[in-house]
Amino acid sequence: MKGFVLAVTLATAVVTLPGQKPVAKRPVIGPFSPQELERFRTLAPIDVHAHVFAAEPFVGLLEKLNLHILDILVVDDNSHRDLDTQRRQALNVVHASHGYAVLCTSFDPYSFNQPGYADNVTRGLNDDFAKGAIAVKLWKNVGMEIKEANGHYLMADNPVFAPIYKDIAAHHKTLVAHLADPDSGWQPPNPASPDYEYYRDHPTAYMYGKKVVPSKEEILRARDHLLEQNPDLRVVGAHLGSMESNLEDLGRHLDKYPNFAVDMAARMPYLEMQPRETMIAFITKYQDRLIYGTDEGFSAGSAETVPELESVYANDWRFFATDDELEYKGKPVEGLALSESVLRKIYRENAAKWFPGILKADAAGSDTVTTP
Ligand SMILES: [Zn+2]
Repeated sequence: MKGFVLAVTLATAVVTLPGQKPVAKRPVIGPFSPQELERFRTLAPIDVHAHVFAAEPFVGLLEKLNLHILDILVVDDNSHRDLDTQRRQALNVVHASHGYAVLCTSFDPYSFNQPGYADNVTRGLNDDFAKGAIAVKLWKNVGMEIKEANGHYLMADNPVFAPIYKDIAAHHKTLVAHLADPDSGWQPPNPASPDYEYYRDHPTAYMYGKKVVPSKEEILRARDHLLEQNPDLRVVGAHLGSMESNLEDLGRHLDKYPNFAVDMAARMPYLEMQPRETMIAFITKYQDRLIYGTDEGFSAGSAETVPELESVYANDWRFFATDDELEYKGKPVEGLALSESVLRKIYRENAAKWFPGILKADAAGSDTVTTP
């Protein structure tokens, strides 16, 4: 879910024209310029991590940006929105989106100990697949919140979920796994952390200081076990697979598990804090396994305006596609200026490959990406 605020802005750039003193340009922040928008639109980009529950004005933004999204349902216990309501609202967005939005459904993990649980879940998922859902979300309340009768936390590799994973694989759908959280969720409050405000505002998700909670390693071990036990299931780890602070570890996982890829949603600051050459080398090496996503959220009554929503896409794109001088929490960041072929992969082709069907409803019918 939304909560990690992206705060990249273009820093004041200094331009020297022949025969002139340096002139400080005003910082360019916010939505796309017309030239930037043309390049972005040409990518026909895909955001594989969005939570959109009201069509307008979001659909207008999708059309303006030529942007496809995966619209993801999440079952938590504080959104006050049950799965049926979320599904109905998200399907309204899908149907109003002229092919730009596709559904990622979810299931209720809280009722895991009810009789017939897996059968009930798979029946619901299969119904959603018939309605066009192409993926299923597993959220971090598995591993961080829900407990078994014996007091142990329910983990992603609990046998109760096994038939559900088999069903998703059998239908050639993708599992989106947001398991664990950034390292900072287990560490003392640190205002320099990209997640400081999130944990300040979401104390239930903050593991630090809580007694007898699972370690992050334990939760990710269960995720890895899931990957091993389900080699035919495509798993996309949300938020860099919660390995945001250790790219070597993320690389090792991508090397080890061919059925695993990650989205970059809401973890841009971690990428921006890396040395530029390190980041270029990492993205280049894993250019087939990294998928663009934002974690943008929009519902009826959301306070975000269209320029604010657009600015997230614009700022992310400037980091990946240009060598503009950017800024994160007062520190300078230089854009990566990735090659066109790498940009096409992280912004479109990988999404099409890891989420078959995400472009099926493409009104333009311009999908030329082949899926395995
Ligand atoms: Zn999310």
